[in-house]
Amino acid sequence: MRMGTQCIHAGKLTESAGGSLNTPILTSTAYEYLDTEEPPYQRYFNTLNQRAVVEKLCALEHGEEGLVFASGMAAISTVLLSFLQAGDHVVLQEDLYGGTHAFVKCELTRLGVQASFVATDPEAIRAALTPQTRLIYVETPTNPLLKIIDLQAVGALGRQTGIVTVVDNTFASPVNQTPLDLGLDISLHSGTKYLGGHTDLQCGALVTRRALIGRLRETACNLGGSLNAESCYLLERSLKTLHLRVERQTANAARLAEFLQAHPRVSVVNYPGLSSHPHHDLARRQMHGFGAMLSFELTPEAGDPVAFQRQLQLIHPALSLGGLETKICSPAATSHAKMDCETRASVGISDSLLRLSVGAEAVEDLEADLNQALGTA
Ligand SMILES: *Cc1c(COP(=O)(O)O)cnc(C)c1O
Repeated sequence: MRMGTQCIHAGKLTESAGGSLNTPILTSTAYEYLDTEEPPYQRYFNTLNQRAVVEKLCALEHGEEGLVFASGMAAISTVLLSFLQAGDHVVLQEDLYGGTHAFVKCELTRLGVQASFVATDPEAIRAALTPQTRLIYVETPTNPLLKIIDLQAVGALGRQTGIVTVVDNTFASPVNQTPLDLGLDISLHSGTKYLGGHTDLQCGALVTRRALIGRLRETACNLGGSLNAESCYLLERSLKTLHLRVERQTANAARLAEFLQAHPRVSVVNYPGLSSHPHHDLARRQMHGFGAMLSFELTPEAGDPVAFQRQLQLIHPALSLGGLETKICSPAATSHAKMDCETRASVGISDSLLRLSVGAEAVEDLEADLNQALGTA
């Protein structure tokens, strides 16, 4: 089955649902135990609703096993705590989701785990490895500059050294990137973004190989961040349109990236689908599509970035990403506000940088809105 079909048909566990085409929402927290080896329990990640959505995700990401969580951070913290203990070392790329960075700095360090943050480059990761390194953690494309790291090289490094490799695949979604095919051990998501896709569901997920699921599930059960039945159902329902949504959003983003790049009041556009992007060839090799996130900088003639955002009529200045509606935000004022100005400038996040999470609207309307806000309608 191709992905568009898998989104709709994979993971149907309706054997006991009287012919229903949809998974019933089973809210029971207690099951009879005499004739089952392991009765379902939500915090054990083994209910029908959890298994149905995990099967769909495994089909989409070409994995064998998975877990669904109450947030992206529940998935991330579970993965890190599953493989790291006092005395261990972890190598992470420095361009990471802020919450992941904070978890490593505040929690892992306190538990006696050493962490190295390195450039978004497999060679920088290799150089940082020590005999104590147990985990390599990357994210691609990155927020907000859409840098790309070579996943095949990261996967190969993991296999050569026996170190577990993890990628946060939130920005690409399985529609645009399937990291297990490239040799990564674990692909995880903030399902709050594209997987949920409707800006109304907080969840997380991971997909992996069978060999690693025992360790992950044990820690997941101990930490207790599982996803409830109603939310599993919402996620399963959302995944049926994942391919439709992300394909449309990706096509819209490609068109807006071209539009912005050609615009006299825009100085820089960061989008992996543009041939001007420094990692365009790598993105072309490892991604199925270039994604629906982009960032850009206004020229001084376009005016103040806050005024520009207020001028938009259709596009919402809002946090988060991945939903059907197009959203814009200033990373310097939001996700990267805690970073000091010099560090921000040194990594390329200027005060006039704006991040666009492109939605599924008619692209002509999005283009017209940007055009009028740029003062050139
Ligand atoms: C939002 C986000 C997370 C965290 O997800 P939550 O659902 O908010 O816990 C992790 N990684 C990336 C790339 C994200 O965008």
